[in-house]
Amino acid sequence: MEAVISMRKAIIMKIIFIIAGLFLIYQLIINFMIDQDYLKLRKLNFQPETIEKIKAYNMINEVLEKNKYSKTLEESLLTNQFHKPNFDLYYEIPFVDNAAFIPNINKLVTRGYNKTQIILIFKYLNNKEITRLLNHNLISDIEKYIVFDYFLVGNLERYLNYQKKTNHSYHQVITQVNIGLDNPFYTNIKEIKDPHRLTVLVNKYHHLPNTFIPDDLSPVNDNLVVKTIQLRTEVKKAFEKMSNEAQTNGLNLKGTSGFRSYDEQKQLYNYYVSQDGKELADHYSARAGHSEHQTGLAIDVVGPDEQLDNFEKTEEFKWLLKHHHEYGFIIRYPKDKEYITGYQYEPWHLRYVGVSIASYIKENNLTFDEYYIQKLDKK
Ligand SMILES: [Zn+2]
Repeated sequence: MEAVISMRKAIIMKIIFIIAGLFLIYQLIINFMIDQDYLKLRKLNFQPETIEKIKAYNMINEVLEKNKYSKTLEESLLTNQFHKPNFDLYYEIPFVDNAAFIPNINKLVTRGYNKTQIILIFKYLNNKEITRLLNHNLISDIEKYIVFDYFLVGNLERYLNYQKKTNHSYHQVITQVNIGLDNPFYTNIKEIKDPHRLTVLVNKYHHLPNTFIPDDLSPVNDNLVVKTIQLRTEVKKAFEKMSNEAQTNGLNLKGTSGFRSYDEQKQLYNYYVSQDGKELADHYSARAGHSEHQTGLAIDVVGPDEQLDNFEKTEEFKWLLKHHHEYGFIIRYPKDKEYITGYQYEPWHLRYVGVSIASYIKENNLTFDEYYIQKLDKK
């Protein structure tokens, strides 16, 4: 009897040992596997603390599938700003060391932006701009705006309103709003801070200081003008070169108006207003402080009959149309661009901007206002 009991005991003991043994082996395997995952994640460069969080979120396999490190993911986990549905986005968006960075990713998702849009938003905007974008409701075509490097998030509301009123393309909307064209001419006027710059923009939204006179004015060669005019030295040289070249082609291209002071411009504008009324005068004459002639960078030219109004019909103009950019000039108030420049077509009014800018403007059929916004008015 005793022998039977001790045999049973022995069997039970054996079974217990086997179970305990199996359990131990199972634990060892599990631990080994966990260690393997841990090691793999360490190898990818994740910190131990991050790995704990990855485990807690049950994401080991997902992270291992990506098989790469993401600083954005790590930071979202370490700062407790991780949202599981945004897992893929954390991987796609390169980390930026900014307190608003991860909150901005999460907020953009909540606002309804899709993955592609969010990736583009982070490609083109910084976190300060994104924070401002988030003041707006979802803009479903946001990617059409932000790709232009002259997009200004501060003008977003104006772009949206202007877009509703016009059928212009996105880049036209952005350019024209940045120029100020969503408001009437001569509104929101800014004073020009650097009137000496060769690329200074003077238009109906930007005025020169009343007292501004360029400090390097010099008279243009008497043979090349109708009456004495002054231009800035670089412009004078360019014009003389161009006019001489025209002459060697049997043409007679002469300057008739160059630098004009604020007071001269004021008198001229007031005279035109007295003749034609303000509305009409504004189409062809600049208000004082808004004339390019005050910069010493602009010149009006005529042919042999010395008439501005007839200039378009002259051989001189035909030649000029082909060659003006080679000397650094642009036709500042082109045909069919009055809605941008605010001035009727003036084939005779040349503005100096230098050869490379003049060539670009000619090639792309732009006004200087558009060029300035797209290339010079950087954020
Ligand atoms: Zn002029």
